[in-house]
Amino acid sequence: MSQFPHLFAPLDLGHVTLPNRVLMGSMHTNLEERGDWNAVAEFYAERARGGVGLMVTGGMAPNSEGGVFPGAAGLFTPEDIAHHKIITDRVHDAGGRIAMQILHAGRYAYGPKCVAPSAIKSPISPFPPTELDEAGIEKQIADIATSAARAREAGYDGVEVMGSEGYFLNQFLARHTNKRDDAWGGSYENRMRLPVEVMKRVRAAVGDDFIVIFRISLIDLVPEGSTWDEVVTLAKAIEAAGASMLNTGIGWHEARVPTIATSVPRAAFTWLTGRLRPEVSIPVITSNRINTPGVAEEVLAEGSADMVSMARPFLADPDFVNKAQAGRAAEIAPCIACNQACLDHTFQGKVSSCLVNPRAGHETEIVITPTTSPKTIAVVGAGPAGLSAAITAAQRGHSVTLFDRAAEIGGQLTMARAVPGKEEFHGLTDWFATMVDKTGVSLRLNTEATVATLADFDEVIIATGVRPRDPEIPVEGGQVASYIDILKGRVTAGPRVAIIGAGGIGFDVAEFLTVDDSPTLDLEEWKREWGVGDPAQTAGGLAEPQPEPPTRAVTLLQRKREKLGRRLGKTTGWIHRAALQMKNVQMIGGVNYERITDEGLHVSYGEARETPGVIAADTVVLCAGQLTERSLADALIEAGRSPHVIGGADVAAELDAKRAIDQGTRLAAAI
Ligand code: NAP
Ligand code: SF4
Repeated sequence: MSQFPHLFAPLDLGHVTLPNRVLMGSMHTNLEERGDWNAVAEFYAERARGGVGLMVTGGMAPNSEGGVFPGAAGLFTPEDIAHHKIITDRVHDAGGRIAMQILHAGRYAYGPKCVAPSAIKSPISPFPPTELDEAGIEKQIADIATSAARAREAGYDGVEVMGSEGYFLNQFLARHTNKRDDAWGGSYENRMRLPVEVMKRVRAAVGDDFIVIFRISLIDLVPEGSTWDEVVTLAKAIEAAGASMLNTGIGWHEARVPTIATSVPRAAFTWLTGRLRPEVSIPVITSNRINTPGVAEEVLAEGSADMVSMARPFLADPDFVNKAQAGRAAEIAPCIACNQACLDHTFQGKVSSCLVNPRAGHETEIVITPTTSPKTIAVVGAGPAGLSAAITAAQRGHSVTLFDRAAEIGGQLTMARAVPGKEEFHGLTDWFATMVDKTGVSLRLNTEATVATLADFDEVIIATGVRPRDPEIPVEGGQVASYIDILKGRVTAGPRVAIIGAGGIGFDVAEFLTVDDSPTLDLEEWKREWGVGDPAQTAGGLAEPQPEPPTRAVTLLQRKREKLGRRLGKTTGWIHRAALQMKNVQMIGGVNYERITDEGLHVSYGEARETPGVIAADTVVLCAGQLTERSLADALIEAGRSPHVIGGADVAAELDAKRAIDQGTRLAAAI
């Protein structure tokens, strides 16, 4: 019997039976907009081969005004339909099923043509929408229904109508954005008229033997959002209008509560699907922060949903389902919910990929094939760059030895996982350990590699990483520690701390020093901290945030005169800033560091080093960036060798695990 019996129970939808309870949720890849249809088809086909029950594409625009940005992809012409046929054929050939998401962005559309129920600009777009008149509303409904009919023509097995996350349909539902006083606004019956009409017309357009999923917002997390009674009323009306399944959406994009970031507890919102499920008779799909088969199985076993939607986990590992079914769950590359290569890329107009799996979105470009000339390869440094290179090279049939002077693998990842809210990094280091073992990499820990020990290898890959930059501030007293001392627990900071440097590590250290027990591991505490209430009690499910008091008084500093954290991830930077604000962390930019004494950190401001002052601190923590550690690489070059240098040892500036893993994988795919 399967280790995950609920996950692998078939789901009968009447005209079709899905082989398991796993849905690959919609993700915008940016591949469609590039017109490389072979690449798009391969992206989905690889995941179909991986065994997922049903996939949903990234959102396709029903018309030009509803696209998330000007030029957003959609099924507008016969050529578009022919292009999408390439995708559906390839998926069907691989034995999979795929539904197309229809996404009308409404006022979230990033363009001057955007339309909405009322002319209220969203806080996340500079474009004020035009309020639709009666004819305009009819056009939107007709365009969505036409889009569904074209999806069927293009060979899709179904469509998902996006009715959550604060997009167009959701905007009609909530008083927050719908101020109309005609038949499309006012009472809830009027506000839900548009989504229900859309559902009816979509069903009429596609016939009965076609999957239609409606994505419904269960908790808007914005003021004047839907109440729970309204959610249930809508769910029943959408079922009556012909939906095959309800997928769940959590929080509008403008909500100031994180809903998918790594610090959100796993399966944080399944209590809501569990509550909706008995109200309807069609299957209910749950989502958000489910990233292992174990968690998915638990959610299904406790009756919180009929199916589990996971999106980013399929970027991290297209074979998620097959590996789970084969009892190889430990080999599933975990999505750590960092957003660094997926959502952050999407918003930068880049192809969505994955920090853990650089092949995601680049399936036709990074091809890992068995080598025709096996070599002996030494990799020095078992951080993310070295581990990726070692595993990929070994998978290809090379004989790989991995050296690290430390007693454990992981490099910088071992520090990241100590930070409250970054517990997912444990899963990543565990996965690397499994794969080192599985691929037969010979691991030599506690071993200092030298020019002599590396002499007999055909190829040498140097991934020796970085060392902390010393900002060279005169120290006349007081306690000074590096971020490594703090995160490794070698130094315990005093009650008042000044942190020098406000990059990713400065922010992490501030979190580490102000938080006692991680709320990520305690759902009820996390909900209190962020003000996640119950939509049955307050519209939209917003409550007053009640953060735990900080465990230390922390001041975070940088020399640049700009908002602290401005360079953090596009979709996660605001969360880190908000989390530290909740802990009363003082954030000061534009300082010069003068000296450190028993009193604390002496600073001044501006080029003229004016208005000197003291940041009272018992401990000063240095998080001033890194320098490359390439002494071994230099020694090898000196000895006439030509090592490959990757990761932080190559370029330290703005190094992160994304670049390290990408570089390691690409090198090993080619070596
Ligand atoms: P970083 O992002 O480059 O930040 C270094 C900080 O040190 C900056 O605030 C910089 O600000 C300051 N600094 C630089 N030179 C200095 C000097 N000589 N004296 C005093 N201050 C100096 O590096 P990091 O924080 O060490 O992070 C390393 C990498 O890991 C980064 O790429 C980061 O993105 C990544 N990371 C990411 C996350 C994440 O959550 N995504 C978390 C941790 C780390 P000023 O020059 O303005 O003073
Ligand atoms: Fe998950 Fe991060 Fe990969 Fe995105 S980049 S899929 S969040 S691991």
